[in-house]
Amino acid sequence: MSRVTHLVAVFVEDIPELLEDGILYVSRECRVAMHNCACGCGEEVSTPLVRTEYDLIMDDAGPSIWPSIGNHDFACTSHYIIRNGRIIWAGQMSRGQIEAGRAYDSFLKRGSPTKIQTVVAWLKRLWSKLIG
Ligand SMILES: [Zn+2]
Repeated sequence: MSRVTHLVAVFVEDIPELLEDGILYVSRECRVAMHNCACGCGEEVSTPLVRTEYDLIMDDAGPSIWPSIGNHDFACTSHYIIRNGRIIWAGQMSRGQIEAGRAYDSFLKRGSPTKIQTVVAWLKRLWSKLIG
């Protein structure tokens, strides 16, 4: 087990019992993706691919998962973003900071008004979740 820098998506019907490092197992049937924590601690990270949880975007460059993976329940408390198959470590920034920054970054640059509305609505939800 060691820290990985990339994840390769593998589509499966059922998630295997033993996960390999560096692989993102995607089950459309179960609407879930799973991978071993990128820090190498061996914990399994489950990302439900449902509207209210995570979005998986498949690209030629690799899979992206949004929002960021915050493993606050694990001993490692690792926090990272999976983007085009790469692990982007989120360091010490809070989840809120990262998500807000990334959302503005990627969505505003693309400039689609409907997407901006989606993000604004989502940020509002995030805000009320964080602040109350
Ligand atoms: Zn970990």
